[in-house]
Amino acid sequence: MTTGLWRRARALIPGGVNSPVRAWKAVGGEEPFFARRGEGAYVEDTEGRRYVDWVMSWGPLVFGHADPEIVEAVQEAAADGTTFGTPTEREVELAEEIVDAVPSVEKVRLVSSGTEAAMSAIRLARGATRRDRILKFAGCYHGHVDALLAEAGSGLATLGLPASPGIPRAAAGDTIVTAYNDIDAAAAAVERYGEGLAAVIVEPIAGNMGVVPPAPGFLEALRALCDASGALLVFDEVITGFRVARGGAQQLYGISPDLTVLGKIAGGGLPLAAFGGRAEIMDELAPSGPVYQAGTLSGNPLATAAALVALRRLRDPEVYRRLEETGAALEAGLSLPGVIVQRVGGMLTAFLNDGPVWNFPSAQGADTERYGELFRHLLEHGVYIAPSQFEAMFVSTAHGPAEVERTIEAARELLGG
Ligand SMILES: *Cc1c(COP(=O)(O)O)cnc(C)c1O
Repeated sequence: MTTGLWRRARALIPGGVNSPVRAWKAVGGEEPFFARRGEGAYVEDTEGRRYVDWVMSWGPLVFGHADPEIVEAVQEAAADGTTFGTPTEREVELAEEIVDAVPSVEKVRLVSSGTEAAMSAIRLARGATRRDRILKFAGCYHGHVDALLAEAGSGLATLGLPASPGIPRAAAGDTIVTAYNDIDAAAAAVERYGEGLAAVIVEPIAGNMGVVPPAPGFLEALRALCDASGALLVFDEVITGFRVARGGAQQLYGISPDLTVLGKIAGGGLPLAAFGGRAEIMDELAPSGPVYQAGTLSGNPLATAAALVALRRLRDPEVYRRLEETGAALEAGLSLPGVIVQRVGGMLTAFLNDGPVWNFPSAQGADTERYGELFRHLLEHGVYIAPSQFEAMFVSTAHGPAEVERTIEAARELLGG
């Protein structure tokens, strides 16, 4: 790269990146491009090359890059001050918007990242139940918090890491992991640990081992197991929230969790996330209750301005009709020899695999070498997909038939069909 940016980055930043999957290590890429600007469905690198972008910052950009209305709202907000550390009107408006959208959420607290939201939801579940153990599922990612990083998919799967050093045994000692979509295994774990179980946390549609929808009855079974054992059911809807429906996967499948974790789209492209749920549980949080949680930049004025524009526009069902239409066209076109496309609405993964993927071990059977080839081939043809087999493609309203067509044509050239 003529600018030497990658050399400078690696000299100063571990691995050259501020989040591991950005390094393209899993797809045989020598160096990632450096984004200079984005517009709609396209991202442009520092060399001036333009790509159809199916990564969309890993999910947040449901209206594409630099949406004019969001940019204007952020600019206006910034001119009035970038942070106050005292309540603002937009925080209340955003809480109203989230509570209106997400069926099970009666009260909500804003934070700055999905990791922070998941971490706080777990603390709250433990504090509210006065229990310690949590049950999670292999291949589900809930941010990089100690207790949740066991068999966590996403970047760990990408880099082939079983878990991370630096996590004290005690911090993960109360984390139980069973297989996604395996009702019997979850029931056995609850049978064994149920009395001490604070929470069952799950991605209601897995997105961090590639897209894996819940098997029929899986989420219902988790709800019943929680009801029987007194554990709280926590849906991590950081990806699915506002994406698969305005009210997330819980609206789509009609299942009511006790707590919900939100992020990505919820922030309108700025650093904002949230967790919420039944009022009686949320009121356990300080200052109304004893469970402590705080943040200097929580409910940040720029982030709430962007989020409000995004979430208000998502009231229009036409948005979801369009995401479904574009997603379906992409699914149909990418269903080529050797490819299994798994999709829910505007999130999908093209698995280079012989058959459907239903849990983490079956995802790991995918041909990651071949995926790397596909990634590099598409990139040469101006199409940017996730630099890992174990991630999703994200459709935005800025994507249309032209972007789908270009993607399918390039993929067909490599894969045939
Ligand atoms: C991205 C993600 C997170 C973590 O969010 P960050 O903002 O990256 O900390 C948590 N849960 C799920 C399901 C995610 O996809």
